[in-house]
Amino acid sequence: MSEDPRRSLPGVDRLARELEEEGCGAEWACLRAARAAIDEARQRIARDEPVGDVRADAAGRCAELTRPRPGRVVNGTGVVLHTNLGRAPLAPAAAAAVAETAAGYSDVELDLASGGRGKRQAAVCQMLCALSGAEDALVVNNNAAAVLLALAALARGREVIVSRGELVEIGGSFRVPEILAQAGVTLAEVGTTNRTHLRDYTAAIGTRTGALLKVHRSNFEQRGFVTEVGLAELVALGTERGVPVIDDLGSGTLLDLRAEGLPEDSFVPGRVAAGADLVCFSGDKLLGGPQAGLVLGRHEIVERLRTSPLARALRADKLDLAALDATLRLLLEGRREEIPVVRMLLEPVEKVAERARALAGALSAAIGDRLSVEVEPVVGAVGGGSLPGFELPSAAVVLDGARHGADALAAALRAAPLPVLVRTREDRVWIDARTLLADEPPLVVAALQHALSADRSERGA
Ligand SMILES: *Cc1c(COP(=O)(O)O)cnc(C)c1O
Repeated sequence: MSEDPRRSLPGVDRLARELEEEGCGAEWACLRAARAAIDEARQRIARDEPVGDVRADAAGRCAELTRPRPGRVVNGTGVVLHTNLGRAPLAPAAAAAVAETAAGYSDVELDLASGGRGKRQAAVCQMLCALSGAEDALVVNNNAAAVLLALAALARGREVIVSRGELVEIGGSFRVPEILAQAGVTLAEVGTTNRTHLRDYTAAIGTRTGALLKVHRSNFEQRGFVTEVGLAELVALGTERGVPVIDDLGSGTLLDLRAEGLPEDSFVPGRVAAGADLVCFSGDKLLGGPQAGLVLGRHEIVERLRTSPLARALRADKLDLAALDATLRLLLEGRREEIPVVRMLLEPVEKVAERARALAGALSAAIGDRLSVEVEPVVGAVGGGSLPGFELPSAAVVLDGARHGADALAAALRAAPLPVLVRTREDRVWIDARTLLADEPPLVVAALQHALSADRSERGA
């Protein structure tokens, strides 16, 4: 009988001490990494699988624990609102406002004139109303919270009518029927998957109806034999029957970008003007600000949300408010291009291509002929549950000839000290210039140099 392979595993304490001596990280990280790596090895042995290099596994886990999370990465994917990459990057002015508010005390709930308690959201609320034409506004933690709060405050214990074509899942586990259930509301489904008519809503309204809810599909489109009831029609019905209408828009902008090709329904002031009692949308999608749920609407309705006991549990924190305040100020001052998401959406493709060519030149100069470097046209996406089907013509730097293939090069770029996220296609690496921020081209150069030097040491071994 062969020896029990578990006995050849190092002890947790010994492995942790060795990691620490090698400078892998602090004691806590070395200990946790060693324990996890040895646990993993034991489980593999139990399943009769090869164990691999336990030390290397532990060192990798230690490195993971030691670097800050979330840490900065460069987005070369061309997806402007990449949910896995934190959606909207903040404008420099918004990031500075966060840093300033975070580092000291602030008047977040103080009225400086009287020295007494002040309203947390007074300024942000005024700006949201000025930008949207709404009577009143409220900011909560995110849009999921905004919808939950709206439903709970207006319709708890009652029915909410939703089209079957709008019972969607947005990703990250936001599912409309489940949010309704969590809000203590009964779902009254009307219509069919592809077609819902005004008469379907009309027939469903009864004494138990608490609200009509319209949900933007956000991440998919329906084409073909399709009918939906527009917001204005729904508002007319709601007004006639005395039932509030909640518009879960998801992603919206306070700028009028319809002339730039953005769809009509992403224009928040238009939704407010259509008469919705409440319009809810995210701060970190098309708006280009921090994670937040923005609620706009009629004063008496917003007030019911504000005074709901749930509001406190869902409230936005002071750093969020600082970032949102600065973002809204940029919009009001006509400095929209300083908001990265807006710049990325509006930058003409020729300018993107110019930036791609400059990056290609810098990369070629840095790596010589180790890879072929070219610029090619691509089509980017907005992503993040925004503008499905909306195509963003763009330009990418394309790297060809990676020794271990494009996927291995993409992995090496992710392993750089400042990771760069790219797309791979046709065994080539594509770095879309549209989503690169102004200071990022040198970071891409550094990451590629790092990736190629790691590659050489591996080959030399
Ligand atoms: C994105 C989205 C949500 C969730 O918003 P979060 O800010 O991620 O909480 C809800 N509804 C719709 C229609 C969305 O597009």
